[in-house]
Amino acid sequence: MYKGPPCLGIKPGDPNDKIKEAAFDFVKQLGYMSFASTAVDGRTPTNRGLEVHYLDDEKNLYVGASRGKHFYDEMEKLPFCSAVGIDVVSVRISGWLVKDDRESVRERYWLQNQGTKKMYHKDLSNFQVYRFEKGEGEIFHVYEADAIARARFSFGGEKPRPWSYEINDKCTGCGICVTNCMMDTIHMHGDVAKIDHYGCNECGICYFSCPHGAIDKNEFVLV
Ligand code: SF4
Ligand code: SF4
Repeated sequence: MYKGPPCLGIKPGDPNDKIKEAAFDFVKQLGYMSFASTAVDGRTPTNRGLEVHYLDDEKNLYVGASRGKHFYDEMEKLPFCSAVGIDVVSVRISGWLVKDDRESVRERYWLQNQGTKKMYHKDLSNFQVYRFEKGEGEIFHVYEADAIARARFSFGGEKPRPWSYEINDKCTGCGICVTNCMMDTIHMHGDVAKIDHYGCNECGICYFSCPHGAIDKNEFVLV
Protein backbone atom coordinates (compact mmCIF):
# COMPACT_ATOMS: atom_id res chain seq x y z
CA MET A 1 0.00 0.00 0.00
CA TYR A 2 1.38 3.40 -1.00
CA LYS A 3 2.30 5.52 2.03
CA GLY A 4 4.46 8.21 0.43
CA PRO A 5 3.73 11.91 -0.06
CA PRO A 6 0.57 13.00 -1.91
CA CYS A 7 0.66 12.80 -5.67
CA LEU A 8 3.98 10.87 -5.59
CA GLY A 9 5.71 14.00 -4.27
CA ILE A 10 4.61 16.14 -7.21
CA LYS A 11 3.72 19.74 -6.37
CA PRO A 12 1.69 22.29 -8.35
CA GLY A 13 3.83 23.84 -11.04
CA ASP A 14 6.34 20.98 -11.30
CA PRO A 15 7.65 20.51 -14.86
CA ASN A 16 6.20 17.93 -17.23
CA ASP A 17 9.23 15.65 -17.23
CA LYS A 18 9.30 15.42 -13.43
CA ILE A 19 5.60 14.46 -13.33
CA LYS A 20 6.03 11.91 -16.12
CA GLU A 21 9.04 10.36 -14.42
CA ALA A 22 7.21 10.08 -11.08
CA ALA A 23 4.25 8.44 -12.84
CA PHE A 24 6.37 6.00 -14.85
CA ASP A 25 8.51 5.08 -11.80
CA PHE A 26 5.36 4.34 -9.80
CA VAL A 27 3.98 2.12 -12.57
CA LYS A 28 7.32 0.36 -12.98
CA GLN A 29 7.42 -0.41 -9.25
CA LEU A 30 3.80 -1.58 -9.33
CA GLY A 31 4.79 -3.96 -12.13
CA TYR A 32 1.47 -4.14 -13.96
CA MET A 33 -1.43 -2.06 -15.23
CA SER A 34 -4.95 -2.71 -16.38
CA PHE A 35 -5.04 -1.99 -20.14
CA ALA A 36 -8.18 -0.87 -21.94
CA SER A 37 -8.19 -1.03 -25.71
CA THR A 38 -10.80 -1.12 -28.46
CA ALA A 39 -11.98 -4.60 -29.40
CA VAL A 40 -11.61 -5.75 -32.99
CA ASP A 41 -15.23 -4.74 -33.66
CA GLY A 42 -13.89 -1.18 -33.48
CA ARG A 43 -16.52 -0.10 -30.96
CA THR A 44 -16.47 -1.83 -27.60
CA PRO A 45 -13.74 -1.55 -24.93
CA THR A 46 -11.83 -4.56 -23.63
CA ASN A 47 -9.62 -4.77 -20.58
CA ARG A 48 -6.81 -6.96 -19.25
CA GLY A 49 -3.83 -6.76 -16.91
CA LEU A 50 -0.36 -6.61 -18.42
CA GLU A 51 3.09 -6.42 -16.90
CA VAL A 52 4.97 -3.19 -17.47
CA HIS A 53 8.73 -2.68 -17.54
CA TYR A 54 11.61 -0.40 -18.28
CA LEU A 55 13.55 -2.29 -20.95
CA ASP A 56 15.90 0.47 -22.04
CA ASP A 57 17.97 3.18 -20.36
CA GLU A 58 15.60 5.96 -21.47
CA LYS A 59 12.88 4.81 -19.05
CA ASN A 60 10.25 4.10 -21.68
CA LEU A 61 7.45 1.79 -20.56
CA TYR A 62 7.04 -1.56 -22.30
CA VAL A 63 4.41 -4.30 -22.32
CA GLY A 64 4.23 -7.65 -24.07
CA ALA A 65 1.60 -10.04 -25.42
CA SER A 66 1.47 -13.22 -27.45
CA ARG A 67 0.61 -12.79 -31.14
CA GLY A 68 -2.34 -15.11 -30.63
CA LYS A 69 -3.99 -12.87 -28.05
CA HIS A 70 -6.91 -10.65 -28.92
CA PHE A 71 -4.83 -7.79 -27.54
CA TYR A 72 -2.41 -8.32 -30.44
CA ASP A 73 -5.25 -8.13 -32.99
CA GLU A 74 -6.60 -5.02 -31.30
CA MET A 75 -3.18 -3.36 -31.49
CA GLU A 76 -2.96 -4.30 -35.18
CA LYS A 77 -6.21 -2.42 -35.77
CA LEU A 78 -5.77 0.51 -33.42
CA PRO A 79 -2.51 0.56 -31.42
CA PHE A 80 -3.91 2.85 -28.77
CA CYS A 81 -4.42 1.96 -25.08
CA SER A 82 -5.54 3.60 -21.91
CA ALA A 83 -3.89 1.93 -18.93
CA VAL A 84 -4.27 2.46 -15.21
CA GLY A 85 -2.27 1.30 -12.20
CA ILE A 86 -3.61 1.80 -8.69
CA ASP A 87 -2.09 1.44 -5.27
CA VAL A 88 -3.95 4.17 -3.33
CA VAL A 89 -2.42 6.58 -5.84
CA SER A 90 -3.62 6.02 -9.38
CA VAL A 91 -1.64 6.63 -12.55
CA ARG A 92 -3.39 6.65 -15.92
CA ILE A 93 -1.48 6.58 -19.19
CA SER A 94 -3.23 6.90 -22.56
CA GLY A 95 -1.17 6.58 -25.67
CA TRP A 96 0.13 4.81 -28.71
CA LEU A 97 2.05 1.55 -28.59
CA VAL A 98 4.68 0.61 -31.17
CA LYS A 99 6.20 -2.81 -31.70
CA ASP A 100 9.79 -2.94 -30.54
CA ASP A 101 11.73 -5.91 -31.95
CA ARG A 102 15.21 -4.81 -30.91
CA GLU A 103 17.16 -7.77 -29.60
CA SER A 104 18.40 -5.78 -26.56
CA VAL A 105 14.81 -5.00 -25.59
CA ARG A 106 13.63 -8.58 -26.02
CA GLU A 107 16.58 -9.87 -24.02
CA ARG A 108 15.72 -7.57 -21.13
CA TYR A 109 12.08 -8.58 -21.37
CA TRP A 110 12.95 -12.27 -20.96
CA LEU A 111 15.40 -11.46 -18.19
CA GLN A 112 12.61 -9.77 -16.22
CA ASN A 113 9.94 -12.34 -17.10
CA GLN A 114 11.52 -15.74 -16.56
CA GLY A 115 8.11 -17.35 -15.98
CA THR A 116 6.68 -15.99 -19.22
CA LYS A 117 9.84 -17.05 -21.05
CA LYS A 118 9.34 -20.59 -19.75
CA MET A 119 5.72 -20.53 -20.84
CA TYR A 120 6.60 -19.44 -24.38
CA HIS A 121 9.96 -21.26 -24.63
CA LYS A 122 8.91 -23.43 -27.61
CA ASP A 123 8.56 -20.33 -29.78
CA LEU A 124 9.70 -17.04 -28.27
CA SER A 125 9.11 -15.31 -31.60
CA ASN A 126 5.38 -15.71 -30.92
CA PHE A 127 5.68 -12.97 -28.33
CA GLN A 128 5.43 -9.27 -29.18
CA VAL A 129 6.97 -6.49 -27.11
CA TYR A 130 5.49 -2.98 -27.36
CA ARG A 131 6.76 0.40 -26.25
CA PHE A 132 4.59 3.33 -25.19
CA GLU A 133 5.69 5.75 -27.90
CA LYS A 134 3.65 8.88 -27.16
CA GLY A 135 0.68 9.88 -25.08
CA GLU A 136 -0.47 11.65 -21.97
CA GLY A 137 -1.44 10.73 -18.45
CA GLU A 138 -2.33 11.73 -14.95
CA ILE A 139 -1.36 11.08 -11.34
CA PHE A 140 -4.42 11.19 -9.09
CA HIS A 141 -4.46 10.84 -5.32
CA VAL A 142 -7.23 11.26 -2.75
CA TYR A 143 -5.36 11.58 0.52
CA GLU A 144 -5.90 12.98 4.05
CA ALA A 145 -9.39 14.35 4.74
CA ASP A 146 -10.41 13.55 1.17
CA ALA A 147 -8.12 16.18 -0.30
CA ILE A 148 -7.26 15.69 -3.95
CA ALA A 149 -3.92 15.93 -5.67
CA ARG A 150 -3.83 15.75 -9.45
CA ALA A 151 -1.03 16.30 -11.94
CA ARG A 152 -0.97 15.75 -15.69
CA PHE A 153 1.89 15.04 -18.06
CA SER A 154 2.63 14.04 -21.62
CA PHE A 155 5.43 12.23 -23.43
CA GLY A 156 6.73 11.59 -26.95
CA GLY A 157 5.47 14.93 -28.30
CA GLU A 158 1.81 14.75 -27.20
CA LYS A 159 0.28 17.57 -25.18
CA PRO A 160 -1.05 16.99 -21.65
CA ARG A 161 -4.83 16.56 -21.49
CA PRO A 162 -6.47 19.96 -20.85
CA TRP A 163 -8.18 20.53 -17.51
CA SER A 164 -11.89 19.79 -17.70
CA TYR A 165 -12.97 23.19 -16.42
CA GLU A 166 -11.42 26.62 -17.03
CA ILE A 167 -12.65 30.07 -16.14
CA ASN A 168 -12.87 32.38 -19.16
CA ASP A 169 -12.82 36.16 -19.55
CA LYS A 170 -16.57 36.52 -18.94
CA CYS A 171 -15.89 36.14 -15.20
CA THR A 172 -17.44 39.01 -13.24
CA GLY A 173 -15.86 38.01 -9.95
CA CYS A 174 -19.24 37.35 -8.33
CA GLY A 175 -17.67 34.58 -6.21
CA ILE A 176 -20.52 32.06 -6.53
CA CYS A 177 -18.18 29.33 -7.77
CA VAL A 178 -15.76 30.04 -4.91
CA THR A 179 -18.58 29.40 -2.43
CA ASN A 180 -19.89 26.34 -4.26
CA CYS A 181 -16.63 24.54 -5.03
CA MET A 182 -16.63 21.23 -3.15
CA MET A 183 -12.85 21.19 -2.85
CA ASP A 184 -12.33 24.91 -2.02
CA THR A 185 -9.95 25.04 -4.93
CA ILE A 186 -11.27 28.19 -6.62
CA HIS A 187 -9.79 31.48 -5.37
CA MET A 188 -10.15 35.11 -6.28
CA HIS A 189 -7.18 36.65 -8.03
CA GLY A 190 -7.96 40.36 -8.01
CA ASP A 191 -11.37 40.73 -9.64
CA VAL A 192 -11.60 37.28 -11.19
CA ALA A 193 -11.80 33.69 -10.01
CA LYS A 194 -9.22 31.04 -10.86
CA ILE A 195 -9.23 27.27 -10.43
CA ASP A 196 -6.27 25.59 -8.76
CA HIS A 197 -6.39 22.44 -10.88
CA TYR A 198 -4.06 20.45 -8.66
CA GLY A 199 -6.88 20.16 -6.09
CA CYS A 200 -9.84 20.03 -8.48
CA ASN A 201 -12.17 17.02 -8.49
CA GLU A 202 -13.51 17.94 -11.95
CA CYS A 203 -17.04 17.54 -10.57
CA GLY A 204 -18.41 20.42 -12.66
CA ILE A 205 -20.39 22.07 -9.84
CA CYS A 206 -18.74 25.41 -10.65
CA TYR A 207 -19.61 24.98 -14.33
CA PHE A 208 -23.28 24.34 -13.58
CA SER A 209 -23.56 27.11 -10.98
CA CYS A 210 -21.84 30.01 -12.76
CA PRO A 211 -24.63 32.44 -13.77
CA HIS A 212 -22.46 34.18 -16.36
CA GLY A 213 -21.33 31.33 -18.59
CA ALA A 214 -17.79 32.10 -17.48
CA ILE A 215 -16.64 28.49 -17.03
CA ASP A 216 -15.77 26.38 -20.07
CA LYS A 217 -15.92 22.61 -20.18
CA ASN A 218 -13.02 21.45 -22.33
CA GLU A 219 -13.43 18.64 -24.82
CA PHE A 220 -10.59 16.22 -25.26
CA VAL A 221 -9.94 14.12 -28.33
CA LEU A 222 -6.61 12.29 -28.55
CA VAL A 223 -7.27 9.62 -31.16
S1 SF4 B 1 -19.40 32.08 -10.70
FE1 SF4 B 1 -18.70 32.57 -12.78
S2 SF4 B 1 -18.66 34.80 -12.89
FE2 SF4 B 1 -18.82 34.24 -10.72
S3 SF4 B 1 -16.67 34.25 -10.01
FE3 SF4 B 1 -17.16 32.17 -10.65
S4 SF4 B 1 -16.53 32.06 -12.79
FE4 SF4 B 1 -16.62 34.21 -12.25
S1 SF4 C 1 -14.88 21.18 -11.01
FE1 SF4 C 1 -15.63 20.88 -8.88
S2 SF4 C 1 -13.76 20.72 -7.67
FE2 SF4 C 1 -13.16 21.57 -9.63
S3 SF4 C 1 -13.17 23.77 -9.35
FE3 SF4 C 1 -15.20 23.21 -10.13
S4 SF4 C 1 -16.47 22.88 -8.32
FE4 SF4 C 1 -14.33 22.88 -7.65
